[in-house]
Amino acid sequence: MTAGLAGAAGAAAVGAAAVALGYASVNPRSSFFGPVIWKGPSSANAVALSFDDGPHPRFTPKVMVELAKRNAHATFFCVGREVDAYPALAREVLAAGHQLGNHTYSHGLGADLFSERRLTEDLRRCQDSLAKVIGAAPRYYRPAVGVRNPAVHAAARNLGLTVVTWTHAARDGAWPLSNRRARTLGNATRAGDIVTLHDGTIRVPDSRREGTLAHLPALLDLVCGAGFRLVTLDALLAGG
Ligand SMILES: [Zn+2]
Repeated sequence: MTAGLAGAAGAAAVGAAAVALGYASVNPRSSFFGPVIWKGPSSANAVALSFDDGPHPRFTPKVMVELAKRNAHATFFCVGREVDAYPALAREVLAAGHQLGNHTYSHGLGADLFSERRLTEDLRRCQDSLAKVIGAAPRYYRPAVGVRNPAVHAAARNLGLTVVTWTHAARDGAWPLSNRRARTLGNATRAGDIVTLHDGTIRVPDSRREGTLAHLPALLDLVCGAGFRLVTLDALLAGG
């Protein structure tokens, strides 16, 4: 192999490694950087829905109404600064039987995602905000936009948090949820799955959440109609 070809092969290998690392950081099922829960046991006929980025004064109550109609419970991964802005709403979510988890205090991206010190401090602030509501620090942490890397897992370890991603995502953070997407998601859901949606509007227009609310009933009806109980993460991981 000539020096030029060897150099090209080396560059290709480095490029492939970078792609693999990038994939591991966003693949919700990858434990490359550390332990992650993306699914619960399938032994019980249960599914855990989760809602990220709230609490939101306009949308979170409407999500709770749809859940209550079906005797469903979910886990709300809250942004700490939204909890501080709407503590009474966070208490309402808890009082309705739902679970609250840590979705960082500021939902910072960029440099915040790569500094163990900054991320630990941000997560600690969210733990403190949620502890005022719950009476104890939450145990589950969903990283902002689901990205995992060494800093994310180190910060989680520092605070005794368990990193939780998902089996299926509605992707309603990136695009408005459509009826078709809601139905695809509902039909794909199996026992033990963790399904993620959004109730908050971090960095997205309110119209994005209108789509979630418009098509959440179709998703809930499909999952409940298939005979699954909708439970909190604690209940799912305890066996449903
Ligand atoms: Zn988020």
